[in-house]
Amino acid sequence: MTKGAADAAPTAGDLVVLSNVNKHFGALHVLQDIDLTIARGEVVVVIGPSGSGKSTLCRTINRLETIDSGTITIDGKPLPDEGRELARLRADVGMVFQSFNLFAHKTVLENVTLGQVKVRKADKKEAEAKARALLDRVGVGTQADKYPAQLSGGQQQRVAIARALAMGPKVMLFDEPTSALDPEMINEVLEVMQQLAREGMTMVVVTHEMGFARSAANRVVFMADGRIVEEAAPDQFFSNPRSDRAKDFLSKIL
Ligand code: ADP
Ligand code: MG
Repeated sequence: MTKGAADAAPTAGDLVVLSNVNKHFGALHVLQDIDLTIARGEVVVVIGPSGSGKSTLCRTINRLETIDSGTITIDGKPLPDEGRELARLRADVGMVFQSFNLFAHKTVLENVTLGQVKVRKADKKEAEAKARALLDRVGVGTQADKYPAQLSGGQQQRVAIARALAMGPKVMLFDEPTSALDPEMINEVLEVMQQLAREGMTMVVVTHEMGFARSAANRVVFMADGRIVEEAAPDQFFSNPRSDRAKDFLSKIL
């Protein structure tokens, strides 16, 4: 992982490349000329005011939202439109949401096994073994036979991370993964994310957890009104934001 990747020219190390991406919701220009390159192993934290387009940005990267113009490539390949290729893309791009989004009527183990079997065509026994190992790794191995509603929010979110990891993703997107959690559960989820970052996972993380941004991010991307207004290494961004928008935002949250 290298600091200052924002300044590097595109290389074979680039995993996710958004180029001149635009998106509207009706009259609202929600993503405006977005250029963003994420290198393999890089951890990018996206911050910005509510409504600035952070969730939409994440959702376009695994094509939960279409874009109006521009290009997005993952590992050199443009996003597929539909069908099996799209399912595979979604597996390559793991996503963790604020609201966990586990399958309520499946056990924890089934939640982490299903996608492996259906999309990755893994053998069921092998998929279960991998699921158990991942559940152990995120600290919820003893919860495997329970249903999501029987778990705490922090446990559910860790299952959601394990479920995404089970697909062997190339990149993980986190959209405010701790915003719906009770305060005492935030750290257990952030610790799992810190560990992933240390292991070299490529990550895009929308969060208000500035401690995480400072310690785990290679780069902070600040969005406002559908634009990337500023991007910098965390130390630089937090100590010396350049734009008035970023200064104003930081003054409200720090
Ligand atoms: P953020 O995650 O930064 O809070 P979002 O990406 O969720 O911002 O939303 C950006 C803007 O787009 C907001 O004004 C929001 O109301 C609007 N928006 C988001 N999703 C939709 C949608 N499906 N239809 C219409 N407007 C939307
Ligand atoms: Mg959002």
